Amino acid sequence: MKAEKMAKLANDLNKFSAKKWVLINPPAIAQWDPVPESYNNPMNLGLLHVAQVLLFLDCEVEILDLQNDNNLNDLNQKLKSLNARADYFGISNNYFRTFESSKYIADYIVSNYQKNVLIGGMHAGYLEENPWKDDEYIDRWEGEFKRVLSFKDRISLPLPYHLWPNLHDTDLILDVSQGCSAKCTFCLKPQLYYRSQEVIETDLDYLCQNVGIDNQIVYTTYNFGEIKQKDEIILDILKPKGITFQTQSRPDQTYNNGFDFLKKAREAGLEELYLGLETINPEVLIRYKKTKNPDEYVNAAKNVIEWCSELDIHVKLNLIIFDGEGPEHLDNLRTFLDVMKVHLSGFILGPLLCFPGTALYEEKPAPIPMKPSQEEYFRKRNCYPVKLNELWDFDESLKQCEDLMSEYKFEDRRLIRSFNLEP
Ligand code: SF4
Repeated sequence: MKAEKMAKLANDLNKFSAKKWVLINPPAIAQWDPVPESYNNPMNLGLLHVAQVLLFLDCEVEILDLQNDNNLNDLNQKLKSLNARADYFGISNNYFRTFESSKYIADYIVSNYQKNVLIGGMHAGYLEENPWKDDEYIDRWEGEFKRVLSFKDRISLPLPYHLWPNLHDTDLILDVSQGCSAKCTFCLKPQLYYRSQEVIETDLDYLCQNVGIDNQIVYTTYNFGEIKQKDEIILDILKPKGITFQTQSRPDQTYNNGFDFLKKAREAGLEELYLGLETINPEVLIRYKKTKNPDEYVNAAKNVIEWCSELDIHVKLNLIIFDGEGPEHLDNLRTFLDVMKVHLSGFILGPLLCFPGTALYEEKPAPIPMKPSQEEYFRKRNCYPVKLNELWDFDESLKQCEDLMSEYKFEDRRLIRSFNLEP
């Protein structure tokens, strides 16, 4: 966010004090496919952080979770009753699957109620292209919103879980750290920070006392074990609670932390690890600055997958088809999966979308020119494909993902795809 815009936001936040806010979690109109049976609605961590700031400013806050209202009639019904409930509205455009619904809801509120809307979320920056009114805010990352608090307050205030509707039917989040210090160029991420040990304990106590811990919780971090000593402290807190949890990490990070660290995590309740492998292709790993040593990186992944198998941790891979990858690359991936599949319980596949503002190559910013028909397709979704190679356009890469989905029958297979908001 530009400095002057940030200053305006900070200034206006003072004016927002003691006002009523409704914070909206918009419907996910692009779905994971297929959604596993065990899938619960996730909490929106960003909204909880924004709510925390607003409570700090003596505002009244309501959170409206619309993630299941993904048809227009249901959505309109919910939006009809909003006017009297708030002076200001916040919407979390948390992912590309909520682009269209965020914009739809914001337009609805502005045109029907003439009230202020603030759009936050990981991908809110993409909406800056749209000609929104001057008094609306686009705040990429709710994290920037949090700058009204000192860093000390930010890491030491408990999350207002009590505001989340239907807490019992939600995937519970334990917010341990945010951000990552790696430099992968395709990734949008904030700067690394860990929350204080005391506040994590407070959050955990609240969840245990008010919700129970029968379901797995989400240990939220970009890169589990990035600061090993800090994660070890949290593992010590978790272990006596008998909680089971899932988390995510880079393969090389987990490998470098060693088998004993993973064992400690297992003993503290780690059941499911999402491994951000992304690709196994050396030139792509280097180009996107995932690693400087692709062979070591892929070997680290193999070792971690085998360790997980030995420790009975369900390991799932995040995989992306990147710009420049073609049939030969996917053959390599298949060879890798054929060897490792006995140890794997799932994967999440993504045809790479290139969002405005995401650096793909440092020397070659997105978007890459494309056919007018393609451009229209992606503009409608406020996202852009990269030119995959001479053979594959985006649709073909999506088809390649679908082929992988049908070839590898893991218990959890998910494909990222998008579709329109239909009435
Ligand atoms: S390691 Fe993961 S979270 Fe960190 S920059 Fe790379 S892709 Fe992003």
